[in-house]
Amino acid sequence: MSVLDIVFAPSEVLSKKALVVGNIDKAIKDLVNNMFDTMYENNGVGLAAPQINQSLQILVMDCSSKDNNYNSTVLINPKIIIKSEGFQVHEEGCLSFPNQYFEVKRPEFVKVNYLDIVGKRKEKIFNGFEAVCVQHEIDHLAGTLFTSHISRLKRHMILKKMQKFKKNLNKPI
Ligand SMILES: [Zn+2]
Repeated sequence: MSVLDIVFAPSEVLSKKALVVGNIDKAIKDLVNNMFDTMYENNGVGLAAPQINQSLQILVMDCSSKDNNYNSTVLINPKIIIKSEGFQVHEEGCLSFPNQYFEVKRPEFVKVNYLDIVGKRKEKIFNGFEAVCVQHEIDHLAGTLFTSHISRLKRHMILKKMQKFKKNLNKPI
């Protein structure tokens, strides 16, 4: 399996709605394994397929990796079907925005309908930090970035920082 390149913002693939997965074939299963490798390698807790330049409705997450208690989850074609009325505020980061962290307000828990890796339809309630993570990643599949949850001024500032970051990446050493 392999670690894939992360797409950094701003990028078109991060801003468009990802395609629904039809058949969960070997290519999709390989992609999911590579997404886990890429997420763990980058110390992430979640990764959506558009972040590795695949416009597909797939996300992987593991919110327990910090305490070495692996709890890897893959969600294919996920849909939020219930949102709590209560909210929580949590500091979020994103592998497509290196070194950018800020507080985002989201529902406390969500119920999600999705397909698992063998194509079985499932429903699960995500709470606490897992709710933060799954909502952040499902946003990615709709082309919505976590910067859309903050003020326009702050969003603009982060966009400028990211443009500078990407420009420096391409500079010859
Ligand atoms: Zn993200």
